[in-house]
Parts: sequence; structure tokens; C-alpha cells
Amino acid sequence: MDNQSAIVQQERVAVAAQMIRYEARTRTIRLATRLTEDQIRRLYRQARQAETAATTTRHRGRSPSQALQYTRNAGMQLEASILASVLTKHAMLRGRREKPWLSNGLQYARRFCIAYGEYLPLAQQQPLNFEQAWHFARTLAARSELYLQRCVRCASHFVRDTATVLKSQCPFCRLREQAPRPD
Ligand SMILES: [Zn+2]
Repeated sequence: MDNQSAIVQQERVAVAAQMIRYEARTRTIRLATRLTEDQIRRLYRQARQAETAATTTRHRGRSPSQALQYTRNAGMQLEASILASVLTKHAMLRGRREKPWLSNGLQYARRFCIAYGEYLPLAQQQPLNFEQAWHFARTLAARSELYLQRCVRCASHFVRDTATVLKSQCPFCRLREQAPRPD
């Protein structure tokens, strides 16, 4: 292995390790990093040994595929909208390049992990888990089922789906209305 490919391999392992910490599924890690199942399993074992708490479990179930799950209730819509603003900041939503996660999976995954790490402390209630966030970012970037709308009242961008005709209220405005008012 020459120097260059050793560096790439190191980066693959680093990104995969981060994705494991975020409880990404094996398949998602494999597609993003091009590591083999065996390599990922080994990393997973190392992560488990490193973490005495051992709370990390890989989700083996189906990845969430319905776009509507991100707009079905106010809480989810708020979380998705917060994540969307972080993704926007990292320029991960608009792209001239078609499907960046396919053309450069490793770099996409590396940037996504950084963005997801920034999103977590911003979450208001129940943060989107890694797989939900991963799927959400792709669905929103594709702009066919989800899109961002600018609120006329507060100018925040929030997530809406193309399937629902009924206009949903801006989750940021709703949050502000719910907050206790100072006397
Ligand atoms: Zn608003």
C-alpha cells in the first residue's frame, strides 16, 4: 500500500468509527466508506471495547424511507428544520454536483458527521437519530419530497413536504408562542 492509499484508508476508518459512534447502520457505513463488512465489524468490536458503557447498538432495521415522517408532527418538523439549517451552513443541501454522496461518499460522510455533531446539542427535544438524519439530508437535497420554506413572520427556513396541501405553521414561531412569556 503506498502512502496515498494508506492515508485514504486511514480516513475511511476514521469516518467509519465516527459513524459507528453515531449508531449508523452497517450498510450506511459500508456504502459511504467502501470498507468491507468484516472491517466494519472489527471497528465495531473495537468501539464496543472502548466504550465501557456499551450503549452503542447498531440499528439493523429498515432505514426510514418515508419523507412524511419529518413533517408529520410539530416536534419532528422542528428537529428536521434545525438540522436543515446546520446542513445549509455546511453547504450540503444545494449542490451543482448531482448526488454528492454517490460521487464522493467518504467526503460526504465526513462532512455529514461534522454537521450531525453540531446539530445534536441544538436539538430541542428528541434529536433525529443518525439514520433518520442521514436519510433526511438526502431527501431534502433531492428536493422532490421535501423542501425548505421561508417563514414570512420570522424569516426562518423550515421543512415542508410536497405531499401535504394544508399549510403547516412555522415550527420556530410555534415554539416561540409556546415559550413562557416574560412578565
Ligand atoms: Zn416563523
